[in-house]
Amino acid sequence: MLYNGSDVVHSSNGAPSDMAGHASLCVAVQGPVLLPDDFAYGKECRTFNLSRPLTPAVVVGATSTDDVVAAIRYAGRHGMPVAVRNQGHQVVFPTAEDALLITTNRLQEISVDPGRRVVRVGAGVTWAQVLLRTERVGLAPIAGSAPHVGVVGYTLGGGLSPLLGRTLGYAADHVRWIEVVTADGAVREVTADSDPDLFWALLGGKGNFGVVTRMEFDVFPMSRFYGGGLWFRGEEMRPVLEAWRTLIPTLDEETTTSFSVQRLPDAAVLPQSLRGAFVLHVRLGHLGDIAKGARIAEPLRAAATPVRDTLAERPFGEIGEIHNDPVRGMPLVETSFGLRDFSVATLDRLMELTGPGSGCPMKNVEVRALGGALDREPVRPNSVPSRGTPYMTFAVGSGTPTQLRAMREFIGTYTRGMAPWRARHHILNFLAPDEALSEAEVRAFYGAERYARLAALKHVYDPHNVFRFNHNIRPAA
Ligand SMILES: Cc1cc2nc3c(=O)[nH]c(=O)nc-3n(C[C@H](O)[C@H](O)[C@H](O)COP(=O)(O)OP(=O)(O)OC[C@H]3O[C@@H](n4cnc5c(N)ncnc54)[C@H](O)[C@@H]3O)c2cc1C
Repeated sequence: MLYNGSDVVHSSNGAPSDMAGHASLCVAVQGPVLLPDDFAYGKECRTFNLSRPLTPAVVVGATSTDDVVAAIRYAGRHGMPVAVRNQGHQVVFPTAEDALLITTNRLQEISVDPGRRVVRVGAGVTWAQVLLRTERVGLAPIAGSAPHVGVVGYTLGGGLSPLLGRTLGYAADHVRWIEVVTADGAVREVTADSDPDLFWALLGGKGNFGVVTRMEFDVFPMSRFYGGGLWFRGEEMRPVLEAWRTLIPTLDEETTTSFSVQRLPDAAVLPQSLRGAFVLHVRLGHLGDIAKGARIAEPLRAAATPVRDTLAERPFGEIGEIHNDPVRGMPLVETSFGLRDFSVATLDRLMELTGPGSGCPMKNVEVRALGGALDREPVRPNSVPSRGTPYMTFAVGSGTPTQLRAMREFIGTYTRGMAPWRARHHILNFLAPDEALSEAEVRAFYGAERYARLAALKHVYDPHNVFRFNHNIRPAA
């Protein structure tokens, strides 16, 4: 770690040439400045997907907005690109080797204003931290399936909740105020009224437009829900998914549901009935009357006998119990895309690819039903591109290098197999590190018109594409 040292030493291209070169950075920021041979560097660069490490030239552990400003200005002076990491759940290939990485996990402000029903967070806060605070005052945020995920990264990528999504839309739809440091080192306070273009671009454009240091968003008066999961033997997947498929069009917006075909490890952290098992996990979150929630689950329970049933009335803080996502990082391969429908033909193909006897190597192949408020444009417009996409699928696996190779092959088979039902748009938060990397793919992801507006704004706010370690929007010429 560098605390002080000599003046900046420049190489011929303007970048600092050695460790001493970063000395002025150490003077300018309060947080740690770490180089690759520092002991703490590895921890600071850690990612959830252990096969996608970040290896930046230098890391700044930001402790304040001023640190972020100093780091961005320093990177600008030396022609370095800037990468950002909070909890490290969605790192995009490549590994950011020449970059200055700003880690935001020390930005720990949380304030809850029950009167205005708003929460303000620093960029390092996770949903678990917010849930602890909002639960006490009977309020609920549009949190995702995994409470250990960072609030800001999740929200900038849309933010799809397994409980509130179909009722209230994306988390991005309820943001009121953003503090962001743009590529020129300016601190901007952005609202839909003060700067509608940048506000629109940030919410959906994720890390492309600057480093968000603080964010304020609406929370909602809710304290309990009905939900959890039903696990069935994999062999009974067909009748249960037939019931799930038939249920979806009957649901009103206060219910959100998904399923996951799981081949679980024989791990002690799992309940006995799930260890090493091939199962279908159906998830349900319902915000209305508890008895109605139980009635919604009836056709699922009637289709086969669950080996585990955790559906119950719960405090809102237990939103993570709907999916039971893994919390520890691991080497992963993954893919995801939107689906146009979930018809009998879609189910037939999914059965062929992932069902009993398919040889599917993935640990988890899920389908989430979207729709409801997720289809509506918000009052404060943003660039989230996935409205009108009725379903999405996400396949992920972890294991040894040999297993990961087999999973990569499967991803090709799965993508080709599901191609007839692939939707035009999808959700940014679920894009894999090596998906949508070319400009053409990112344009297709957003759609030509939305991409053109984003690229024009990128030209205004980040003309040199300093923030490029993301699903990158290139500045318009
Ligand atoms: C187990 C699991 C479950 C998930 N479930 C859901 C879900 O239900 N719904 C959903 O929508 N998503 C979900 N996600 C995806 C998740 O929302 C994204 O991966 C999100 O980016 C994670 O936040 P993070 O703090 O880990 O981001 P990081 O990996 O640290 O950052 C990812 C990217 O976000 C951007 N970013 C992060 N912080 C900032 C900042 N302060 N300023 C500017 N850009 C920034 C950068 O581009 C960065 O590269 C899930 C992910 C996992 C691993």
